Amino acid sequence: MIRICLNKIDYEYDIRGLLTSFYPGEEIEKNPVLVEEIPDSSFAGDGQSSEGFGEEKSETSVDGKPDRTVYAIYEEDGIRTAYEAGGRISARGKVYVPASDRKATKIALKQELYALFSADTGKELPWGTLTGIRPTKIAMGLLEEGASDEDIRNYMKGQYLTGEKKTSLAIEIAHREKEILSRIDYERGYSLYIGIPFCPTTCFYCSFTSYPLARFEKHVDAYLDCVCKEIDYTAEAFRGRPLNSVYIGGGTPTTLSAEQMDRLLTKVEETLDLSHLLEFTVEAGRPDSITEEKLRVIKKHRVTRISINPQTMKQKTLDIIGRRHTVEQIVEIYELARTLGFDNINMDIILGLPDETKEDVEHTMKELSRLRPDNLTVHSLAVKRASRLNRQREDYAGYHMENSDAMMQITEDYARGMGMAPYYLYRQKNMAGNLENVGYAMPGKAGIYNILIMEEKQSIVALGAGSTTKAVFPDGRIERADNIKDVLLYMEKIDEMIERKKQLFQF
Ligand code: SF4
Repeated sequence: MIRICLNKIDYEYDIRGLLTSFYPGEEIEKNPVLVEEIPDSSFAGDGQSSEGFGEEKSETSVDGKPDRTVYAIYEEDGIRTAYEAGGRISARGKVYVPASDRKATKIALKQELYALFSADTGKELPWGTLTGIRPTKIAMGLLEEGASDEDIRNYMKGQYLTGEKKTSLAIEIAHREKEILSRIDYERGYSLYIGIPFCPTTCFYCSFTSYPLARFEKHVDAYLDCVCKEIDYTAEAFRGRPLNSVYIGGGTPTTLSAEQMDRLLTKVEETLDLSHLLEFTVEAGRPDSITEEKLRVIKKHRVTRISINPQTMKQKTLDIIGRRHTVEQIVEIYELARTLGFDNINMDIILGLPDETKEDVEHTMKELSRLRPDNLTVHSLAVKRASRLNRQREDYAGYHMENSDAMMQITEDYARGMGMAPYYLYRQKNMAGNLENVGYAMPGKAGIYNILIMEEKQSIVALGAGSTTKAVFPDGRIERADNIKDVLLYMEKIDEMIERKKQLFQF
């Protein structure tokens, strides 16, 4: 158990993020404890470690005894930090930074804590102090201001302590994104997301809005009625603005029957102006939901990109994670899609799945390079609060689940070997190995929607249960409107969902 002690509640979120990165899986006390000082602060200020203060407990101590305590004391002209573990306190000297400069304070605080945690664990984090989900936004922002690669490199290393490899990756991706975005009128345009929240079964790591199809099948037509109502609203509200990309995701969109899929795609095509459309993705997703008939329906519409997601090519892992399909089915469906003429196919894989070794990752990548998809998205397993993996931890305690830089390197080597390059990247909380998710693409095949959502350059209107609409305003302000997650409640309150969007965009 780790305790956070502060003299005022500030930057707590950032401290938690860094702790989670250094001490994955360790519990952090829910509420921080308010203290006036670091215990026996007389030794603090020299930047040296000190010993023997472990018995001194804060008077405001809460239930339970923490194994470790983090201290951050904010003063008008600077911050002081310390870390207590195993009866030893290590304190950092005061860093002088005006409290009014929040950005500088946050950066300094995280640098100081990084030094303390790194000394305690002997670890360096590949992304340094960066704990947010969009590290490439930093490189992109600087690039847009005219900074050179060298400037960006120095800034990221100096401010955020990012490692050489990740810094280079962020810069490479920022360049690629900038080039792709330069071809899109993203400020005037918008993109559309449609969520189909049904799946054949629930994967053990899933935290998305997903309902088992068997129980919800009878509601699917009514659900589509509501999505169509939202499409009508979108067509009306965004009349005259170019629609740049459409993404149908989920859940698993191909849980829709061929007729339902046809109905949805026809509605999109007949209601919205697609004359500026650059990309139309249907995330077919799980092979056990895809049939030839459905692929034929998708092909006859304006869809340009599909996703067929194996996650791994090891059967034993597929069984453990709750995907009721075989490796052979993945290959069959993929080859069928190629035969039907799909020329932009993404495949998702996850690293850090139960008991998977470097050899297993190598095996998956060998199989995928034989298939030669156009896009490859490499995810690091993230333990999400709502997932079965988190809720039933004991059931999975016997499995080793680890992602590593070496595994990421295998995927990168194979992706580059196939002629792909990285084009987008994001991170999530509680990711295995504290690494990242990376999207690779063959030349000219990068997923535009993925870049738009990561760089937050464009408004994305999101329809369906559990989706989040994001409005990006000309001054850079970003505001969101959520649709209710519960699918039945979403349908019941469909007018309210539309009203929320009207309020957000206020056209
Ligand atoms: S396919 Fe995706 S949305 Fe469906 S259960 Fe698995 S992880 Fe969740």
